[in-house]
Amino acid sequence: MILVLNSGSATIKYRLFSTGPAAPDLDPITGGLIEHIGESGGPASHADALRDMAGALRLDAPDLVAVGHRVVHGGSRFVAPTLITPEVVSAIEELTPLAPLHNKPNLAGISVARSLRPDVPQVAVFDTAFHATLPPAAYTYAIPTELARQLSIRRYGFHGTSHAYVSRQTAALLGRPLQTVNTIVLHLGNGASACAVQGGRSVETSMGLTPLEGLVMGTRSGDLDPAVIVALHREGGLALDDIDAVLNRRGGLLGLAGNNDVRAVLAARERGDAAAGLAFDVYCHRIRKYVGAYAAVLGRLDAVTFTAGVGENAAAVRAGALAGLDLLGIAVDPARNAAADRSPRIISPDGAPVAVCVIPTDEELEIATQTRAVTAQHA
Ligand code: ADP
Repeated sequence: MILVLNSGSATIKYRLFSTGPAAPDLDPITGGLIEHIGESGGPASHADALRDMAGALRLDAPDLVAVGHRVVHGGSRFVAPTLITPEVVSAIEELTPLAPLHNKPNLAGISVARSLRPDVPQVAVFDTAFHATLPPAAYTYAIPTELARQLSIRRYGFHGTSHAYVSRQTAALLGRPLQTVNTIVLHLGNGASACAVQGGRSVETSMGLTPLEGLVMGTRSGDLDPAVIVALHREGGLALDDIDAVLNRRGGLLGLAGNNDVRAVLAARERGDAAAGLAFDVYCHRIRKYVGAYAAVLGRLDAVTFTAGVGENAAAVRAGALAGLDLLGIAVDPARNAAADRSPRIISPDGAPVAVCVIPTDEELEIATQTRAVTAQHA
C-alpha cells in the first residue's frame, strides 16, 4: 500500500492505494479529509490529527511500502519527486519563505509521518517540478537580474502534478503518443492555472513566483498591473499585509461577485445579477486570452483540456471561455458540452482541428504513481 498525504494549513487530505507486485495499477482503497486542524473542536496539530487517524490511514500496517507527500514549492532545486532525507527536509524548510502558507503544513505532515513510520520510505512530490522544463524566456521576470537572483524571484508555476497527469491523459484519450501532442491544460479549481504542454513538457504556465499570478480564481485576483499594488499603498493607504489579503483572499470572484464559488456565481448570473455577470465575463475573458497566447507559444495546438472542480463541471464556463476561438480551430459542441458525463471525454465537434477535452484530474493518484517510481529506483 502507498499512502498519499496532502497537508494544508487546517486540513489533511489522504488517500490509500493498493500496490500488488504484479498489478500495474494503483487501486484506491480508502481516502478522506481531516479538517479544522488547530481550530476549536478539531485536532490541535497535524501530529495529533495523524496520530488520531493512524488506524484509518493504516499508518501502522506492515504492508505500507511508501508515503507520498504533496509539497507545494520546490524552488529551483527540486525538479523531480524526491526521496525524503533529513537533508531534503532542511532544503524544503529553506524554501518556506517562497510559500509559507503551503510548505509549512506540508513539512508538518512529513515530520509526523516520518516519526510514526521511520522504516517506510517517504517521497516529496512537488507542485512546481513539472514546470522545471520552462525555458528562461518564459520563467524570467524583466526586473534587474541581480535582484531577481538574490531573492530567487522567477516564475515557478504550480498545479504541476495535475498538469502532468491531465496532459498525459489527454494524449491517451486522443490515442496518440504523448511526445506528439501539444495541449493547453486549464486547471480551474479554487486555484486556477493554465499550462502549455509541448510533447509532455511544460513550456509556459500562468502561475508565477507564487500561485497568485494568471487566471481569475475564487479569491485571488490573478494578473493585474503591478502598479495597482503601489496605488493601493500610496493612494489607498493599505499596508502590505492588507494588500496581500486583497489580492489573495478578497479578490477574484469573491471580490467581483461577493462569492468565491463558481456554482453560486453561475446561479446569481442566471437570476440577472449584474455583478455576477461581470465576474463570469472577466473570468472567461482571462481564460480565452491565455488560450490565444499559449496557442502562439506552442505554435501548433492539438488539444485544450479542462480539469478540476470548475473545469470538470461548469459547462457554461467551458463554452464562455472558448467562445469565438474559431480562428484557432477551437469549437465546443453544445450537446457534448452539456452532457452529464464524469469520464474523460471530447466535447469538440467531430473532425475539429483542435480537440477540446474534459478530463477529471487525480493529483493523489499521480503522487502515488510518482512515489512508487521513486521508491522502485531506490529499492
Ligand atoms: P481545489 O482547488 O480546492 O482542489 P476543486 O478543484 O475541487 O478545488 O474546485 C472547487 C471549485 O469547483 C468550487 O469552489 C466550485 O467553484 C467549483 N465547482 C464544483 N462543482 C461545480 C459545479 N457543478 N459547477 C460549477 N462549479 C463547480
